[in-house]
Amino acid sequence: MSRIASVLLPMPLPEAFDYAEPEGMGLELGDQVAAPLGPRLLRGVVVGLREAAGGNRPLKPVEGRLEEPRLPANTVEFIQWAARYAVDAPGQPLAIALRGARAPKPRPARVTVLTGVEPARATPARIRVLETARAQALSPPDLARASGVSSGVVKALLDEGVLAVRLVESEARFDEPDPARPGARLNASQAAAAEALKSVLGEGGFNVALLDGVTGSGKTEVYLEAAAAVLAADPAAQVLILLPEIALTQAVIARVASRFGAQPGEWHSDVAPPARRRVWEAVARGRCRIVVGARSALFLPFPYLKLIVVDEEHDASFKQEEGFIYHARDLAVVRGRIEGAGVVLASATPSLETLRNAEAGRYRWLRLSTRHGVAQLPDIELIDLRETPPEHGRWLSPPLVKAMGETFARGEQTLLFLNRRGYAPLVLCKACGERMTAPDTDSWLVEHRYSGRLVCHLTGFSMPKPKACPHCGAHDSLVSIGPGVERVEEEARNLFPEARVAVFSSDTVFDAREARRMIEAMADGQIDILVATQAAAKGHNFPNLTLVGVVDADLGLRGGDLRAAERTYQLLAQATGRAGRRDRPGKALLQTWAPEHAVMQALRAQDRDAFVAAEMGERELAGLPPFGRLAAVIASGTDPVQLDAFVRAMAQAAPNSEGVEVYGPADAPLGLIRGRRRKRFLVRADRSVDLSAYMATWRARVRPPASVRVAIDIDPYSFL
Ligand code: ADP
Repeated sequence: MSRIASVLLPMPLPEAFDYAEPEGMGLELGDQVAAPLGPRLLRGVVVGLREAAGGNRPLKPVEGRLEEPRLPANTVEFIQWAARYAVDAPGQPLAIALRGARAPKPRPARVTVLTGVEPARATPARIRVLETARAQALSPPDLARASGVSSGVVKALLDEGVLAVRLVESEARFDEPDPARPGARLNASQAAAAEALKSVLGEGGFNVALLDGVTGSGKTEVYLEAAAAVLAADPAAQVLILLPEIALTQAVIARVASRFGAQPGEWHSDVAPPARRRVWEAVARGRCRIVVGARSALFLPFPYLKLIVVDEEHDASFKQEEGFIYHARDLAVVRGRIEGAGVVLASATPSLETLRNAEAGRYRWLRLSTRHGVAQLPDIELIDLRETPPEHGRWLSPPLVKAMGETFARGEQTLLFLNRRGYAPLVLCKACGERMTAPDTDSWLVEHRYSGRLVCHLTGFSMPKPKACPHCGAHDSLVSIGPGVERVEEEARNLFPEARVAVFSSDTVFDAREARRMIEAMADGQIDILVATQAAAKGHNFPNLTLVGVVDADLGLRGGDLRAAERTYQLLAQATGRAGRRDRPGKALLQTWAPEHAVMQALRAQDRDAFVAAEMGERELAGLPPFGRLAAVIASGTDPVQLDAFVRAMAQAAPNSEGVEVYGPADAPLGLIRGRRRKRFLVRADRSVDLSAYMATWRARVRPPASVRVAIDIDPYSFL
């Protein structure tokens, strides 16, 4: 009896395709195969196998099985679950899962080996080389170096045929972590949290715990302890630690390496493809037992995943907004359930979604309410900009400048936090009032002084700053409005010419190595004043940092989406939490025009619970997450008439369903991106509704014309 293989291809197709299994191929679920699609041969994954019933139309055969690791059944199930949830094609998450498999293999290493031919002469240098080559397989230059001889000696031995060079595939192997190495000695509340966590995880199977601890309380130490227990309990167990920023992965990798005496697998967009391939393969073969990575690490083919940690779980960077749209924290919980693994969500400012699950008893709630050791939480004061505004054309108010001066005089460090890249967020013509925008996108161009360009942060479009207004032609009329980090840096340099000032944003720190260098320089005291966006405001420990100044505390409150207050609270609590992490007390000053705002009052009083209670109350009244569900539809098109007709038809086609409300279509706030007009629907549903199923039904009822693209965003975080 012949069999039919269902093969999923890593592309946006609605479903897996059927192929005939050639006689004797012996396919198994999860196998990577080459399968024909039209004239092309594509890599795909077997997601189903069944006996062929007689009388079927003949199918094209699978071309061949690839000599590559198989995707574990749980990984395949997770991919399919994620696609259903996101109302997207299963090939989309599969493409993420295969990213490492499709990366080029690392180049084979050149190593020098003994051939057995005796050397004509045996000098002491030659003998040393031969002894070294016997002990280790090294490249010719490394062999010369390790033997302490010149390269000529090695070359002569190669020429004589005593040594030969061989190419070897470097094996995807990682050092075994040693969970028995002693970790930090935990303080009493850390030890209690670690014990509770270990007992939750020790029960085995799926369990979620919220590790809720103030900044600097030692959450990392606690979850590493839990990871040690998981690794020790089972020599095959694998652990995944997810982080929201590449900069943070660097710090955690260092801590994992020193805790377990082994380098973990590193996974994020900045890892070179061959290294990625190595991690992917080692994970699939169970040879890499700890992975530290960004959100897409969740799609790695772990055969035996026993613990997932989502650090800074509240962070919006876990939401992937383009291509396959998903929230890595939510999917981490799903993957935990499918794998029967423990999940630890860690944060000083957990999301309302997670807090709600903890309150309801679905997650085990572990709290750490004090900082480790003598470190105290910083004092937080509000600077009312209405009373003490900065001088004209400046951004730092007198009280903040005074505090910076005192901090510098004591030899301590200041962090100025402003979540805005570049020099100025807006460039305006003072003659005609024209605002500089990108040609095909509805967003202001941001001025960057370092590069002398105006940049669209949405699409990456950039142009040199013009000398004359492109609208009215007036010369020297373009003025920079508002501050970005570069402008605050300029002001800090002018105020404190002797201080060492640096900027930390994605423009100045563009890869993992640069991030590590900057963090080390800061930790090491080589910087006096660091002006930073959120890239540096999270998670790091800078022992000598005692003052945090928030340049524009109100920034995140404008624009008002559902989570504006929550996000502002989280971001500022994180940023202010950088101060005073050792024995020196820290202070945080928040510049605000609205000191009476609930967020500012809660930050000042450090009363997270009161803030959360008030915010929960409002969400509950409105039936918004976490008390209800949301989904968005974003339709975009190059032809405005077709787009309009399509969204009207779509509105008509919305299924009637109890507990579901559909709002829209409306012009998206960002009405034009890369030349495509955008319209949005927002859908609110009661918690009991399967919103993914509702959206899938809706989508199936309409067929967009070729010029229109439809994206569905389950649980949207952006409303633009
Ligand atoms: P969090 O993740 O809660 O912000 P961390 O785990 O980063 O906190 O800990 C903050 C700082 O305190 C780090 O420098 C960490 O090494 C140190 N620390 C925390 N707990 C301990 C401990 N038990 N012993 C020694 N140092 C600790």
